[in-house]
Amino acid sequence: MLNREAAPLIRVGVLGFGGLGQAAARVLAPKQEMNWVATADLKGYAYNPEGLSADTCIATYTQKGSVGYVEPHGTLSHNSIRELIARAPVDGYFLALPNLPNTFMADIARQFIQSGWQGVLVDALKRTSAVEQLLALQDDFQAAGITYLTGCGATPGLLTAAAAIAAQSYAEVHTVKITFGVGIARWEAYRATIREDIAHLPGYDVETARAMSDAEVEALLDRTNGILTLENMEHADDIMLELAGICDRANVSVGGVVDTRNPQKPLSTNVQVTGRTFEGKTSTHTFTLGDETSMAANVCGPAFGYLKAGTALHQRGLYGLLTAAEVMPQFAR
Ligand code: NAD
Repeated sequence: MLNREAAPLIRVGVLGFGGLGQAAARVLAPKQEMNWVATADLKGYAYNPEGLSADTCIATYTQKGSVGYVEPHGTLSHNSIRELIARAPVDGYFLALPNLPNTFMADIARQFIQSGWQGVLVDALKRTSAVEQLLALQDDFQAAGITYLTGCGATPGLLTAAAAIAAQSYAEVHTVKITFGVGIARWEAYRATIREDIAHLPGYDVETARAMSDAEVEALLDRTNGILTLENMEHADDIMLELAGICDRANVSVGGVVDTRNPQKPLSTNVQVTGRTFEGKTSTHTFTLGDETSMAANVCGPAFGYLKAGTALHQRGLYGLLTAAEVMPQFAR
């Protein structure tokens, strides 16, 4: 391997400490280029300039319900994100927050803009309408000195970026079809993810899913044997591929199966990109994820790859909103 100059350590924050936030802490633990220094949940935050311990934070959150109880670096707060931004010097945040209501992430983005903080933000947002709200903030991100990379999870994210690469063989892209399989042992480990998936089922929307109690979610999952089958979802892969000039958003489709009672994937996650080559041949590229890779691995890995890429852009003075289909993720070691 070429011996590249050692890059300065990136100080990373993770907002939201549920399923994805905790997985993010574990993904970051062995990385030499990134130091996980800050985190926040609904009831508190923790900050240590020397680096936080994933084991301690996860154990405390599991036992007491907030990282605010972590000794001695935690603080309980009803305004955890605002206080953390003001207090902690952080280069980039992964926003592992629920987007409930559908305007929540854009509200958080406005909070960052108003705080005067400068740096890199990365999200794993899923809905097209949520990404559209961020697009409306494009000028504000640029003026604030924030490099915001949106849609940087698995889908949107890894699979959207793979589609952008696969498209290069074609003179014209006809369709992009994303099919995901997710297996988790217990739905409670990913409450927001499951509620946001329920919001795509016929007869539900974001507000009805958000208002469901845990008992109501359990009753629904009992009726379906723990399986959620999702078709023609409102997924931002479509607007991201359209913005990248690859195809019209109407030609992008996303669906999948989530098993909430079995960590094995019910099907292999894949993206199929069909197009016409310059010779006039129609063909399909298929990119399939390994079945052993979990949702958490396929979301958090790309999120930090994009955070590293975003840091390089920020250092060069490139601010504003970009999507996972426009920027190549780097590999965070
Ligand atoms: P979760 O429900 O497990 O955890 C949410 C966390 O956010 C909790 O720690 C909670 O305390 C915290 N939180 C909530 N409101 C807060 C507030 N106002 N201030 C500070 N913290 C707050 O969530 P999850 O299942 O890990 O999902 C997180 C997000 O990731 C969801 O929006 C989900 O849709 C998204 N996701 C994206 C992909 C992808 O491929 N793009 C895949 C999976 C999940």
